[in-house]
Amino acid sequence: MISSKTSFIALIGNPVSHSLSPIMQNAALQYLGLDLIYIAIPCKDKDLELVLNSLKKINCKGLNITIPYKEKVFNLCSEISPVASKLKAINTLKLNSEKEWSATNTDVEGFIYPLKTLKLIKKESIVLGSGGAARSVIQGLINLNFSTISVISRNKSSLDELIKNFGSQIEIQGLLNNDNRAQNLIEEADLIVNTTPVGMETTKNKENLLPFGENFWRSLNSKSIIYDLIYNPAPTSLLKFSAKKGCKTIDGLQMLVAQGLKSLSFWTDGLEVPFHIMNDALKNYLKNK
Ligand code: NAP
Repeated sequence: MISSKTSFIALIGNPVSHSLSPIMQNAALQYLGLDLIYIAIPCKDKDLELVLNSLKKINCKGLNITIPYKEKVFNLCSEISPVASKLKAINTLKLNSEKEWSATNTDVEGFIYPLKTLKLIKKESIVLGSGGAARSVIQGLINLNFSTISVISRNKSSLDELIKNFGSQIEIQGLLNNDNRAQNLIEEADLIVNTTPVGMETTKNKENLLPFGENFWRSLNSKSIIYDLIYNPAPTSLLKFSAKKGCKTIDGLQMLVAQGLKSLSFWTDGLEVPFHIMNDALKNYLKNK
């Protein structure tokens, strides 16, 4: 029951109305029996500093940060975890003992979660796309001890930037999507991760439902695992196509839930919630939507 003592955790971004975080986080908070609720707060760019500073003064226990503010909040935080510094992106904040924001990023742990049990050490991987999520994915693949990463993207400048950032940690190469070498890499890959938004429910161009078009996928074979970060729809066209080829597939829902569990643990100084509590809440919500 919400009372005059109830505190809150908020998601800050623009837009936030599509977010599934309130559904899964409120299910988890209810499971824990905490007097806390989770709400989404849309925030304009010009108001970000005022909003974050004001939230420090009231009964707000923590925040999630989403697009487009994952980088912009850096100068509003007094403590930043090593992983958030490395990724140059923050997705979770909590108030420290001095009532200042302490920041971290839980996306890497979220990404790794469904791969942990698959024994993928020293394997070859491909990452499609070179935006914000690709950074967490690359760091996750490094942490999991993959032997090589090939990033395939349409954007040369962000591709070059990624290779420069991670090149000292792993054998990593960048290719444009029309590079002829892509077909050999796809044929050999143990894991292919889609971090482009192609296939999302909102994608307007229905002819382009597979990242880089259907021809790009012609050498895919059943030994590859296909991981699509998109969670709505689940499965995406890419995952349906890959399953038909006999590939193991992983959708983005598990990453979403796992990063949410890690954020909740950060806010509550280590409390844990079973994965299925958040996962079932999301699945029920999406089924009845
Ligand atoms: P982002 O920073 O905008 O990066 C998107 C990347 O995809 C960029 O490299 C972009 O290239 C490329 N791209 C965009 N449209 C494309 C198209 N039509 N064809 C080929 N490449 C295209 O976005 P993000 O934050 O990385 O998020 C990417 C996706 O991951 C979204 O669908 C998001 O919902 C999902 N995601 C899921 C989770 C989860 O928990 N499951 C977490 C984070 C993100 P340009 O730079 O050329 O535009």
